[in-house]
Amino acid sequence: MKNKLAIVVPAYNEEKVLKQTIKVLTQLIRDLQPKQIASDSFILFVDDGSTDQTWNFIKTASLQNPMIRGLKLARNFGHQYALWAGLMEVRSQVDFSISIDTDLQDDPTVIPQMINDYEEKGWQIVYGVRNNRDNDRWLKRTTANLFYKVMNLIGTHIVPNHADFRLMSRKALDLLALYPERQLFLRGLIPQLGLKTGKVTYKRQTRKAGQSKYTVPKMLNLAWNGITLFSNALLRVPTLLGILTFLLGCVLGGIQMLNMHHVSWNLILFLIVSSTILISLGIIAEYLGKIFNEIKGRPRYLIEERTIRHD
Ligand code: UDP
Ligand code: MG
Repeated sequence: MKNKLAIVVPAYNEEKVLKQTIKVLTQLIRDLQPKQIASDSFILFVDDGSTDQTWNFIKTASLQNPMIRGLKLARNFGHQYALWAGLMEVRSQVDFSISIDTDLQDDPTVIPQMINDYEEKGWQIVYGVRNNRDNDRWLKRTTANLFYKVMNLIGTHIVPNHADFRLMSRKALDLLALYPERQLFLRGLIPQLGLKTGKVTYKRQTRKAGQSKYTVPKMLNLAWNGITLFSNALLRVPTLLGILTFLLGCVLGGIQMLNMHHVSWNLILFLIVSSTILISLGIIAEYLGKIFNEIKGRPRYLIEERTIRHD
């Protein structure tokens, strides 16, 4: 029996490109059946609270073609949440999923390669990684590179140049579902699952129609979530500043006491008092970080496999 696939596609105000996407993806599924995937494989569009004709298009398409399914969120929750909703919806029904954006910027022609890697090599997660950023505007390219540098610096493992175009096996989806946190940054979460993973590279296209739904505030919010949800490094800033302020106070105090140069005692006192406040804040921040980690409720361990029980 062939493995059953669900392609999960979040869509927010995508009426301009949706018809073309439906055509391309249904053709892709038809080409893959029945040799590579099960005949009841399907495409799930998640309408993330669109205000245009997106949902109507999805509904009409689903009536005409049983391969198309739709899920309408009650309002605009954001890409990460729409994607999560889609993945959790299909999890119990399929052997594996592939998530892709509606605008066809991620190249669907590498999907057969992804499936091949999942089936032949046993990869549980296959990341779609873009091989260049030629199609990005300067601002997006620069901020993206800066983001990957910062993430590396604070020690968070994410796959560079990978957005949310990826294959996940049922096992990977089941492990992902064990993460109960509310605020999502899937690109940070999924590498934490472990499992056998791999990459396929592709050339990211320009948007086929419509405009980017990732406004600058939405993009910054995503990056900020990535940084703050996966590292408590920023909470150490007050401690660091406190230590520096204290050292500066000591040096200036020494200079004054040794009569090397006149330094105001007011300044020295100010630095010492500031440093105690900053270090105290830093201590509170350490506990806050621990509380934050606890509250996320991430699983302590993940089981990949068990041997068969004989009892
Ligand atoms: N999207 C969504 N909710 C949002 C914003 C975007 O579901 O609030 C979807 C959008 O329809 C698309 C995907 O997320 O399928 C990526 O968005 P977009 O292509 O606009 O982002 P970009 O490629 O410009 O970063
Ligand atoms: Mg896009």
